[in-house]
Amino acid sequence: MTPNPAPDANQTYHDRLARVRQAMVASDIDTVLLSVGAELPWLIGYEAMPLERLTMLVVPADGDASLVIPRLEAARVTERGDAFSVVPWNETEDPVAIVADLMGPAPRAAIGDLTWSRFLLALQNASPATTFSAANDIVGPLRARKDAFEIEALRAASAAVDRIAVELQAGNIALVGRTEAEVSADLGRRIVAEGHDRVNFAIVAAGENAASPHHEAGSRVIKSGEIVLCDFGGTMGVESGTGYCSDVTRCVHIGEPPAAVREAYDALFEAQAASVAAATVGTPLEDIDAAGRNILEAAGYGEYFVHRTGHGIGVEAHEDPYVVAGNTNPLEVGHAFSVEPGIYIEGQFGMRLEDIVVATENGPDPLNRVDHHLAIVDG
Ligand code: ZN
Ligand code: ZN
Repeated sequence: MTPNPAPDANQTYHDRLARVRQAMVASDIDTVLLSVGAELPWLIGYEAMPLERLTMLVVPADGDASLVIPRLEAARVTERGDAFSVVPWNETEDPVAIVADLMGPAPRAAIGDLTWSRFLLALQNASPATTFSAANDIVGPLRARKDAFEIEALRAASAAVDRIAVELQAGNIALVGRTEAEVSADLGRRIVAEGHDRVNFAIVAAGENAASPHHEAGSRVIKSGEIVLCDFGGTMGVESGTGYCSDVTRCVHIGEPPAAVREAYDALFEAQAASVAAATVGTPLEDIDAAGRNILEAAGYGEYFVHRTGHGIGVEAHEDPYVVAGNTNPLEVGHAFSVEPGIYIEGQFGMRLEDIVVATENGPDPLNRVDHHLAIVDG
């Protein structure tokens, strides 16, 4: 499922490090420190183990990058030409001291969001003159603008979950008489069978459970006459060092929907299409949210749309940029994000419609192409 032609990985990581350094200079940051989380695989194609033993990439603005890593993990690292050097530490060494040493007297460091606080606290002790800020301020905007290879990786992952959604809409995934958890497990198996390395989530919510946006699929048995919301995705291409995520939501109704469900879905359909259509380069991200939200408000569903319209997607299932009121940043070429309005009426039903969309010079390019209507399945 690796998109072709695959770029030269060494060149890719080399270029990304160069872009990070440019952003560091622009923000007056001397050192970027990255540990667990998605920044590291994006930057060098290696994902740190979430261990009590510290793994940390040290990127000086004007020197060579070093991956400080437990010696027993060093064998897992694929060296990337001259992008960075590996600095293995032995069990009796203090990795924090090694990192502090590499930083030198750096007064301004930016550190990854997910770095364990124990390491940050130790670094603050070891390097008291250093001020720390969030590395996401540097790396997030760079990661948000996907290159051609990343867009093709996202497209491949989206196409894979679309194939599952087609089966769902055709009634080829059994629902009635199964529990939500059984259907969720079925979706998970299909996510892997369609080429993903990891299942990130497979929300299955039936009837009134669909009114909880992040419902945990459980023991509730799915019955005829209800709506079933399925929101699922995974990560594809992990073996290449940097996997990319899918995320799609479709609802099906078992048997003819009642008027209340049909009317709500018509408004949702229109709102989702309006937000996608609004996703032109230069548009403030909050306007993309408002485009759909205004339609739901006008139709009387405003109070039932309880979350933002969308999130960026890439190496992480949720990352910059966020499509939400208050985010006045403009949409940029290469931004990849979800458009997923929903209507959640407690005790009755819920629904959501979600595509991943990429911003291009020629307008929005939806990666999910599976039918957007409320599919009616037998049962
Ligand atoms: Zn989703
Ligand atoms: Zn999503």
